[in-house]
Amino acid sequence: MSRILLLSPHTDDVELGCGGSVAKFIERGDEMLWLAFSVAEDSLPQGMPKDTLAREFEKVVQRYGLGEEQREILGFRVRHMSEHRQEVLDHLVRVRSQFRPDIVIGPSLHDYHQDHQVVANEMVRAFKASASIISYELPWNNVRFDDQLFVTLTEEHMRKKWEALQIYRSQLMKDRTYFEEEFVYGTARMHGVQCNERYAEAFEVIRWRI
Ligand SMILES: [Zn+2]
Repeated sequence: MSRILLLSPHTDDVELGCGGSVAKFIERGDEMLWLAFSVAEDSLPQGMPKDTLAREFEKVVQRYGLGEEQREILGFRVRHMSEHRQEVLDHLVRVRSQFRPDIVIGPSLHDYHQDHQVVANEMVRAFKASASIISYELPWNNVRFDDQLFVTLTEEHMRKKWEALQIYRSQLMKDRTYFEEEFVYGTARMHGVQCNERYAEAFEVIRWRI
């Protein structure tokens, strides 16, 4: 059993990048803590309540069968995280001493979304000497990605990922192409072919401790 820390700059990043793996980790009994740094109040379709993404995230966490103590929503403003880099690091250092994760999963160092860059860099700064660190894949943000580690997935894991993504009505309304079924299943099928399984999610390895 591992203690796994999930880092989501915005509420939907972990589900998109590794939502199938999260289902697999929960199924095998790993202890999870899921941090969402921003609920992206400024990125919602016009007229939607400001807490829409926070409520959608709560539903996702419940759908995965996690309790309130296994998730934390932080109030950083979307696209302004670089102004609060030290606060992000301070929070991660607190989590390091309280939760003591074995594995930390966050965005890639090659992810060029401005908020994702902050979380990726502070993740390495905080955990490089204490935990294994891996990065999930978000192809629309990454300028490159090395398929170094695979988590193999069943139909059931993919169904859970797909159902979690369906909860983000506010993002589906914006016709984001990376929420399309063809893309979600196609990417997982491609990585499945790479490791002779039906489906898989790929990760970059920043640090690995055994
Ligand atoms: Zn994001």
